[in-house]
Amino acid sequence: MANQAAERPRDMQVDGLVPHPAATAAGYRAAGFWSGRSLPTELVAAAAAHADRTALITPEGSSTYRELFDAARNFATGLLESTGLRPGDAVMFQMGNVTETVVSYLGCLLAGTKPVCTLPQHGVREVGVLARHIGARGLVLQSDFGRGLLPDNARSLLAEGTVEFAVVARGEAFEGAVAYEDLLAAGAAAGSAELPYHQDESDQIAVFQLSGGTTGLPKVAPRLHEEYAYNARAWAAALGWGPGTVALYALPIMHNAGISVALQPALLSGATLALAPSADIGTLLDLIATTRPSVIPLVPPALAIRLLEAPASKTADFSSVKDFIVGGQKLAEEVAHRLRDELGIAVRQKFGMAEGMFLVTPAQAGEAVRHHTVGTPLSPADEVRILTPGGDAEVPDGEIGELCVRGPYTIRGYYRAARHNASAFTDDGFYRTGDLARRHTIDGLTCYSIDGRIKDVINRGVEKIHAEEVEELIMRHHDVSNAALVAMPDEVLGERGCAYLVMEARARPLTVESLGVFLLAQGLAKYKLPERVEVLPGLPLSNIGKVSKKTLREDIEGKLAREAGSRATPGSTST
Ligand code: AMP
Repeated sequence: MANQAAERPRDMQVDGLVPHPAATAAGYRAAGFWSGRSLPTELVAAAAAHADRTALITPEGSSTYRELFDAARNFATGLLESTGLRPGDAVMFQMGNVTETVVSYLGCLLAGTKPVCTLPQHGVREVGVLARHIGARGLVLQSDFGRGLLPDNARSLLAEGTVEFAVVARGEAFEGAVAYEDLLAAGAAAGSAELPYHQDESDQIAVFQLSGGTTGLPKVAPRLHEEYAYNARAWAAALGWGPGTVALYALPIMHNAGISVALQPALLSGATLALAPSADIGTLLDLIATTRPSVIPLVPPALAIRLLEAPASKTADFSSVKDFIVGGQKLAEEVAHRLRDELGIAVRQKFGMAEGMFLVTPAQAGEAVRHHTVGTPLSPADEVRILTPGGDAEVPDGEIGELCVRGPYTIRGYYRAARHNASAFTDDGFYRTGDLARRHTIDGLTCYSIDGRIKDVINRGVEKIHAEEVEELIMRHHDVSNAALVAMPDEVLGERGCAYLVMEARARPLTVESLGVFLLAQGLAKYKLPERVEVLPGLPLSNIGKVSKKTLREDIEGKLAREAGSRATPGSTST
């Protein structure tokens, strides 16, 4: 069977994949973590078991498991019949939080194609770079997302030959693209042909998740069928999900967190996913009132603060919410206390990443664990080491080191990125997360706190901005001779990007606006634009001659503190 996969002409599945060692994989299967079945096979089995239950609710309507998977089957059949895509092909996504996204994602899996979890906020250049890196042939886009620019972006991608086929949801088709409704109709007309979601490829790539930026060599996390399904099953099990659970999710559903803490655990456990089109507080409170969620599986601290500040929250009824899980960024103790005291919410925390590894605080743990740590790993087979940053020596418990992880749903290598893989993993396959963490024992429980990071990333809300990507694009401006992007603390989003620029002689300094216009024209997503510009005669250097971002972070923190007058400087994380 494995040979059959290797013989396929456009075999994307073995190319660029760093597999788990065979003995490790066999161990995960023997322990029942890995099922030996493909992700869509597991999803189809769950759908059959829960056919008449509600699978999905959006403000526009709801679908049972039967309805959702019938639509997904039609999408899959239509995709293979009308677009020329073949099983094994990768498909880019630019879709928001709408029903069509869930149908298309499931449909791609049922067609044996591999969703690439790009976001609708990504620009043409970003989608293009990733599509070429992966070798994707298709694109699914939401025509009415945001300001309605995605069809134009898709036309560019088609015209330059980056992708060959597009599916347009919620809008008119155009040359090279087929309308989502027509695809479904074509699938329905073709009938119930057997779909090629192979059982024998369970250890191969199911989905491509994103990690790094898009200048230089991209970091794409290949998520394999068995481990991605297990990630979701383990999350559902840790939280006790099943029929009757309603999980409300308001962040981008195609992000790894959306798929791994909401969509897939809900669908694999017979629960209901209530999908908010945005994290707008009014929408969220409406959905809390109408769907009575039992769990909100990921609330970034920034969103929790907005919820606390919204007058409408004071009268909202949160009593259905048994699990309110904060994650994505460090939670300030004050916010945990306010959630408890003002809204009656006992928070739990989670840590997770596109590369795998999740931790969550146990529901029954005391506040010392729930407020100050991200808890314990999801799987009994998860292994955690706290190492000297970039090194291999374990640091003692209670001391800060780099969080390094290995286990049944953590990647063993980025896709087609041997250069990254050489430094991103220890010799024995632990993934170096770039996050700083400590191991604690509290009330007899071994748990972990996240205490900053060493990777050069700005965590804006939960969207990550890779400094190097933005810096490289800024450096294309002929008036700029040097640039550094650093995190500046922000009460609402946690962090925002501040660009330090050195201008060429006699060049006029760039402003946030003029730099933004330039970067958008370079195809950078809007959420990555620097939100403050500081111009210096030269960038400070560390004693090894590298730009000292620490000095720049201290500089901007000082400036913000002075500007805020007597207000205390908000805590900053170490990037
Ligand atoms: P992503 O791959 O986009 O899901 O981002 C994963 C990264 O988000 C992690 O490597 C951390 O840097 C950050 N992160 C996720 N959860 C937490 C958390 N609970 N506390 C602090 N940082 C977090």
